[in-house]
Amino acid sequence: MKIAVLPGDGIGPEIVAQAVKVLDVLRAEGAKIEMETAPIGGAGYDAAGDPLPDATLKLARAADAVLLGAVGGPQYDALDRPLRPERGLLRIRKELNLFANLRPALLYPELASASSLKPDVVSGLDLMIVRELTGDVYFGQPRGIEVRNGERVGFNTMLYSESEVRRVAHVAFGIAMKRGRKLCSVEKANVLECSELWKEVMIEVSKDYPEVELSHMYVDNAAMQLIRAPKQFDTMVTGNIFGDILSDAASMLSGSIGMLPSASLDENNKGMYEPIHGSAPDIAGKNMANPLATILSVAMMYRYTLADLATADRIENAVKKVISQGYRTSDIWTDGTQKVSCSEMGDAVVKAI
Ligand code: NAD
Repeated sequence: MKIAVLPGDGIGPEIVAQAVKVLDVLRAEGAKIEMETAPIGGAGYDAAGDPLPDATLKLARAADAVLLGAVGGPQYDALDRPLRPERGLLRIRKELNLFANLRPALLYPELASASSLKPDVVSGLDLMIVRELTGDVYFGQPRGIEVRNGERVGFNTMLYSESEVRRVAHVAFGIAMKRGRKLCSVEKANVLECSELWKEVMIEVSKDYPEVELSHMYVDNAAMQLIRAPKQFDTMVTGNIFGDILSDAASMLSGSIGMLPSASLDENNKGMYEPIHGSAPDIAGKNMANPLATILSVAMMYRYTLADLATADRIENAVKKVISQGYRTSDIWTDGTQKVSCSEMGDAVVKAI
């Protein structure tokens, strides 16, 4: 397997280094893994004047999977929009046609007290959010800021074609089939035509999956229900912007944004794997970031791109083990547990593997 390693900015290089240690262990055991590193985001801009340099995109296209850290930082916020780090990320997702973003939210029992919700509300939580990633208001045209009637107006376009909804629906139903066979489609069909079409297509696709119980929920209610009673959900599917917001909210259910991996897949299960958090400039360079989301992203890489479920389980079990051993980076640290640095956490996982 060829892996393009794109550390990015801020804590990206620190956390990706821990995930690479895990891959190195597997390689030392005989797994045929090739890794090549390239800059993206602010690092891409610094190296080549482009948040997605041509050479990086070429490497990512040639790879079977991409492992990404995070992009962005305050030093890049004043750049012209097309040069900003986040544009590099949006572009690589689009260029590789990574339309299905899988974001699990799972609560490790030992971290129940790190969640901001009561333990009985979140303990046992095991939720998968499938977010459409290459359409919606983030990509719809026209977009811009212009002067109309003597004042500036900003505008974006929320747009989904039925084929875009259909393909993510199939991914979501497929995942729901392997989980609890309950799929909740989240939209805002009471107000938005775009959502009305989304809902219609979900119902059409559901006919191919009679075993899966499909339900529908408006996004405002879904936000409330995620906080009120998150265990009612098994698998959720939603559009790009609603999924962006809901999956960050869901991340807090599980204690820390530093615990949650993600996979973004194309039609052939080629994928980009990354933690759901950003580049955390406030703690960058301090060796204190939680690398577990990135390490768990490698587990997802084994599960979805390589279909090597045994290795995926092995990595996930190693993470469970270090948590049960009491190792904690500062974001999940509580009294009575052992505070470790980013690299020490990586070492602990390697030892557990
Ligand atoms: P963030 O996710 O970077 O940080 C939010 C908070 O969570 C911060 O307090 C941070 O210290 C903490 N945090 C994040 N990851 C952590 C980890 N692994 N361990 C411990 N603590 C962690 O979000 P933000 O502050 O809104 O954004 C910072 C930069 O990241 C911005 O430039 C933003 O555009 C970018 N960003 C990038 C991505 C991405 O690359 N996928 C996603 C979101 C934000």
